[in-house]
Amino acid sequence: MPEDKWRKKLSTEAHHVLRQKGTEAPYSGNLLNNTEKGMYICGACGAELFSSDSKYDSKTPGLMGWPSFGEAVNSGAVEFSEDKSHGMNRTEVTCTKCGSHLGHVFEADDSPTGQHYCINSVALNFKKSK
Ligand code: FE
Repeated sequence: MPEDKWRKKLSTEAHHVLRQKGTEAPYSGNLLNNTEKGMYICGACGAELFSSDSKYDSKTPGLMGWPSFGEAVNSGAVEFSEDKSHGMNRTEVTCTKCGSHLGHVFEADDSPTGQHYCINSVALNFKKSK
């Protein structure tokens, strides 16, 4: 989809994160403390990305302010790329279906899988299980 269409479809904040690789302020997101059962979907295209089953409460300093997941809902849901911006060496996570930026993935001892998907709330929507 052309960028001007994304701009119309998304809120200013969501557009900044999803389409311009922004990061929401820590602890600002409405899904950080969500513990309901359901599916986290892409805030841009609606693709299913993370199950609530993989959401966990991270204790990693510096990463606790964003929703944390141990794995994507399936291996094809997200894609990875090297991100050397801001003087760091990180792995960016994007939505496979629409290419929107979601957050980053780190190795983390406190994650049940050893992987810590640090994902912006504003890049996600939540679909509660029925
Ligand atoms: Fe998407």
